[in-house]
Amino acid sequence: MSQILRLVVTGASGRMGRRVAALAARDGRFRLAALIDRHPGPGCLEPERLPQALRAADVLLDFSAPEAAVRFAGLAAAARKPAVVGTTGFDSAQQARLKAASRRIPLFLSPNFSPGVHVLGALLQAAASSLRDYEISISETHHSLKKDAPSGTALRLARIAGAARSGRAPAVVSQRIGDVVGDHTVTLAGPCERLELTHRAHSRDVFAQGALRAALWIVGKKPGLYDMPDMFPAK
Ligand code: NAD
Repeated sequence: MSQILRLVVTGASGRMGRRVAALAARDGRFRLAALIDRHPGPGCLEPERLPQALRAADVLLDFSAPEAAVRFAGLAAAARKPAVVGTTGFDSAQQARLKAASRRIPLFLSPNFSPGVHVLGALLQAAASSLRDYEISISETHHSLKKDAPSGTALRLARIAGAARSGRAPAVVSQRIGDVVGDHTVTLAGPCERLELTHRAHSRDVFAQGALRAALWIVGKKPGLYDMPDMFPAK
């Protein structure tokens, strides 16, 4: 895409929103059309201004909280603007509302925008299919301010493992401590050995960069739900 992408960032005062805004501000492919948060920081608007802000934007990019993200995605759908949603922790009713929004707009919904975690999912799928009689467990550690547990990423990994075995998803053990950005380990334990697949995020920038990449990618797509495997199809 040759044009500059005009972004509205919701949850812009939060840990992720601030990184998205900072990275977009120094990247010539983006212009920050509006920053929205219920706790307005410098240059931030209140959520009531979102419909107006969307008129002058190309994509909504959200890292807020579940109920807010669903509402914001609905407003993007009403404005016929694509949305990238990184928020996690949706219940089934909220997921259904996001799905409904995706019938009107392209909606990129991913619990983890890191390329490394995307590859971890593919490795897990291969390992769980090959080592069919090995037990699987998943553990995740995040900073103590994270609101949802298990993490959206751990739930996604559990679903991948369950689907590879056509069975029940393994349980997830969660720990909330300190300022850990995000660690996930999948263990496959068999007789006399175990295989551990670990991903550690060192900085939120890996998620922010991935979300910005998704914002560029989603423009011009048909309405529907998209995720990392759509942006990085298997070769
Ligand atoms: P945070 O609490 O630091 O930031 C959330 C921001 O959203 C806050 O500034 C808050 O004021 C704002 N907000 C909440 N409700 C709002 C509302 N009703 N209206 C307007 N603004 C509202 O959280 P965070 O660490 O930035 O994470 C945000 C979300 O992103 C969480 O769900 C987290 O799990 C998820 N996350 C996803 C990825 C990914 O790669 N997809 C990576 C990290 C975090």
